[in-house]
Amino acid sequence: MPDLLEDLSALVRVPSCAFSGFPREPVHEAAEITRALFAAVGAQSRLLPIDGGEPAVVAELGAGERHVVLYSHYDVQPAGDLDAWTTSPFEPTIRDGRLYGRGAADDKSGIVMHLGALRAMTRLLGDVPLRVTALIEGEEECGGPLPDYVLAHPAMVDADAMVVADVGNRSLGEPTLVTALRGVVDATVEVRTLPHPAHSGMFGGPAPDALLALIRILDTLRDEAGDTTVLSGYPWEGAPVDEQQYRADLGVAPDAQLLGTGPLADRLVTKPAVNVIGLDAPPVHGAINAVIPVARAKVSLRIPPATDPGTAMAALCEHLRQAAPWGVDVVVTPGEEGRGCALETQGPAYAAARWALGAAYGREASEAGEGGSIPLVAAIMEVAPRTEILLMGAEDPGAAIHAPNESVDIAELESMIVAETLFLLRLAETV
Ligand SMILES: [Zn+2]
Repeated sequence: MPDLLEDLSALVRVPSCAFSGFPREPVHEAAEITRALFAAVGAQSRLLPIDGGEPAVVAELGAGERHVVLYSHYDVQPAGDLDAWTTSPFEPTIRDGRLYGRGAADDKSGIVMHLGALRAMTRLLGDVPLRVTALIEGEEECGGPLPDYVLAHPAMVDADAMVVADVGNRSLGEPTLVTALRGVVDATVEVRTLPHPAHSGMFGGPAPDALLALIRILDTLRDEAGDTTVLSGYPWEGAPVDEQQYRADLGVAPDAQLLGTGPLADRLVTKPAVNVIGLDAPPVHGAINAVIPVARAKVSLRIPPATDPGTAMAALCEHLRQAAPWGVDVVVTPGEEGRGCALETQGPAYAAARWALGAAYGREASEAGEGGSIPLVAAIMEVAPRTEILLMGAEDPGAAIHAPNESVDIAELESMIVAETLFLLRLAETV
C-alpha cells in the first residue's frame, strides 16, 4: 500500500483535465505515468492513439485460458471552485485515512486498484495466471470517443470479463456490484406566442404569455405525488437504498419531503426521473412589465436500465408537444441519448466476483443500481455480448467525485485491491 499510495499521489499531482480549453501537457503526462506504471509490473504497455481524442493506455500481461479487461480513466474533472477545497486539489494530502485530491477517487483510484492487483500477483505469486489487458481511457469525463472506438474495434473488449472500476461501494466496507445503470435522454422545448414583447398594461390578459405556457407544459412532467409521468418503470430487485443515508448524501433534512412513491431504490434505479435542467426566460433583475413572447427549457429524463433510449426520446418529445396549452406554438428539439444497462449477472465471472468480494470484506456482496449512464458499457454490451461486465471500485458515497475535496478511503482501496486480486485468481481457476 505505501508504494501504491505514492503512485496514486504522483497521478493526482498531474491536473489531467481533458476538457477543451485545458492544457494538453498534463493530460499526456498522466498518460505517460500510467503507461510506465503498468510497464513496471512487466506488462507490454503502450499509448493507443484514439481518433479525435486523447490516447488510451493499453497494457497486456499474463497468460492463460481466461482473458480479463481492466478499465479505468486517467483524465479528471476540473478542480472547480478552488476556495472550496481544504487543501490544493493537485497536492495529494492524507487526512483521517483518506487521500484527498482531484481524481484521487474518480478515477485514478481505479488505475491503482488494477495496478495493485497485478503487483500482488507478480510480486507474491510471480505469475499472472490469465491474460489481462488494462485499458485506461484519457477522455472519459468529457464524453470522449472511446465508446465509438470500441464499437469499431470489438476485439479489444471481447473477453471473459471486464472490470469497470469507475464506481464505488454503497457505503464504506459494504462490497457492491453495480448491475444496473439508468439511461438518459434530453430535449429542448421552445414556446413562441408573439412576434415581440407586448406591454402588459395595454395587451396583457388575452395575450398568450410564453413563459406561463411553458410552465404549464413543464408542470405536466410530474404528478401530484412527484412521480414522473413520462414512461413507466419496474421494481428493482437488488439491494434497497437506505433513506437516512440518501438524505444525508443529498443534503436534505430528515423530515424533508421526497418526490414520488414506491421504494426509494425503484425511484433511483428502475423508474423514470424527469428534471428541468435549464430555462431561458428574462432574468428577474431588469424585468419589465411585458408579456413574454418566447421561453425555452431543457428537460432531462433518466430512463429505466432496460428502456430503449429512442423509445424514451420519442415519448418525451411527444409528451412535451401534447402538453402545450392554449394552442400555442411549441417546437421540441431532441438532444442527447444515452443507453442504460441492465447487466447479465449469472455467468462465471459474476460468481467469481461475488466470492472474491465476500472473501475480501467478510460479508456478502450486494447489487446496486446507479443513476448515471456509462456509454462505454453500453458499447461493450452491443459489440461484445459474451464479455461479463463487472462494475466495482473504490469510489464510496463520501468520495465527493466531481466536487471539491474529492478523496478516496485508503482502507477501502486496499480492500478492493484484495477483492480484485482474488477475483482474477478465482476466474483463472474456472477454466
Ligand atoms: Zn469516472
